[in-house]
Amino acid sequence: MAEVRERIERAAARAGRRAGEVTLIAVSKTFPAAVILEAYELGLRDFGENYIQEFERKAPEARALVGARFHFIGHLQSNKSRRAAELFDAIQTVDTAKLARRLGESPRPLEVMIEVKLSEEQAKSGAAPEALPELIEAIRQCPRLRLTGLMTMPPWSEDPEQSRPYFARLRELAARYALPGLSMGMSHDLEAAIEEGATHVRVGTALFGSRKP
Ligand SMILES: *Cc1c(COP(=O)(O)O)cnc(C)c1O
Repeated sequence: MAEVRERIERAAARAGRRAGEVTLIAVSKTFPAAVILEAYELGLRDFGENYIQEFERKAPEARALVGARFHFIGHLQSNKSRRAAELFDAIQTVDTAKLARRLGESPRPLEVMIEVKLSEEQAKSGAAPEALPELIEAIRQCPRLRLTGLMTMPPWSEDPEQSRPYFARLRELAARYALPGLSMGMSHDLEAAIEEGATHVRVGTALFGSRKP
């Protein structure tokens, strides 16, 4: 964890930013609740999970951690939205107006980000940039949803510089719609993301080691 913190600090310094502007989201998917508890003991407070069913099993222990925040970062089907809104503090992967409206029925206030798909090579989920005005409006119609920013995941490449244009594009889109949050950057490309303005980096492997397939 110290190593990831140092990487964040160095990248922030290079970009003339404060490391405190960047929230480290520890991506704990596939790891048991005990790993979340250990990371919490070491001072981590933000966790990312991809699967509702998997987090159901960890939630009794994980949700008991005072001050911990859980971010949903996987693809969310609208039939699981009610449960997602109960289990998570923030949903980073809103990509349709229908999903936004379903989440908006949640009795609890919920932070949301819009996942943006910036190229054909990216995974199927994510809203097209052209769909953003309508989606932003749909979210703003829901009083319990608070839209905090945009999220993206560039096509996989070993070379972190390949991610940079996607990060820059996401920053431009967020600026256009006056959204403050940018969730971008993972284990291999968090430096490029922070240099391009990331406010949230989602890091799994660099913290917890590689996941079993
Ligand atoms: C798994 C995952 C991550 C973390 O990836 P690492 O390469 O292990 O850091 C980040 N974001 C999303 C959306 C993920 O699914």
